[in-house]
Amino acid sequence: MVSVLIGIARLASEGQLLEAKRAVEYRTLPSRGILNRCTSGKVPFSWTINPYRGCEFACKYCYARYTHEFMELRAPEDFETQIFAKQFTLDGFRRDLARVKRGEGIGIGTATDPYQPAERRYGLTRRILRALADTSGHRIFLTTKSDLVARDVELLQEVHTRHWLHIGLTITTLDDGLARALEPRAPRPELRLEAVRTLARAGLRVGVQSSPVLPLITDGEVEALARAAAEAGASSYIAYGVFLMPSALRVFLPFLEERYPRLVRKYEQRFAREAFLPEEYAARLAERVRVARVKAGLPERHNLEESYPEAAQMALPF
Ligand code: SF4
Repeated sequence: MVSVLIGIARLASEGQLLEAKRAVEYRTLPSRGILNRCTSGKVPFSWTINPYRGCEFACKYCYARYTHEFMELRAPEDFETQIFAKQFTLDGFRRDLARVKRGEGIGIGTATDPYQPAERRYGLTRRILRALADTSGHRIFLTTKSDLVARDVELLQEVHTRHWLHIGLTITTLDDGLARALEPRAPRPELRLEAVRTLARAGLRVGVQSSPVLPLITDGEVEALARAAAEAGASSYIAYGVFLMPSALRVFLPFLEERYPRLVRKYEQRFAREAFLPEEYAARLAERVRVARVKAGLPERHNLEESYPEAAQMALPF
């Protein structure tokens, strides 16, 4: 049977193969635009920017894996090894940006990491920030797990002076071994904290988020993470529970079998029926996080909290 690829799958298949090195392939992805409308209503922004599709950091709990299925890339490892850099032109981006009203929020890195290794070669995130620095009046939320964000500290300062900018560093555990197993190719926790220090010292608004929290695995670290965030100069700390859709479970359960076999059945039972944790767990976690913030000397309420989603590992359209 001959299958006909349509839409994003056809664009992905036509993308020019730029480099096939080790197990990772990088391609360009023809794209109608890098700025996308977000109609979620649960997040503090109405536009999203994700310069890359796929993410080399390969987190075991990553919800965004399903996005590769639209491109007929269904093997779990495709998401980590087939990385697409979206086509970017400065003129096109500026035209798109003109549609964003003053005061509207833009989320950068809502689906995949904008500072993953591909950024070192393509520099898309940097080019986007450069263009943003030439405009003003928006609320910009940038999320990453990478210390590479500190490379752009001066550019981020420019963006900060012209917009309201919040940078969120995701740190889910302080345990190097666990981080290596859980987020195999993301920078280790201490490097992320060092990036927080650099950004905070530069006068930038930077927060730490420990989402997703994994019950019975990382939920005992909330207090230590809040303390580490405060010591590094973060101005805020948040943490939300994990959600696991079927595409994420396919990768997460083998991880559990290897490292936490006694938890496999519990997670299977919990997430077979629905992707989210029960409300009761979310409420208890929220209270624990609130207390941890107070003990760490951080503001009791997270300044973005009212408009943040239930889970900060956000399921948003590209
Ligand atoms: S950094 Fe984010 S997008 Fe990348 S693999 Fe991890 S959870 Fe997924």
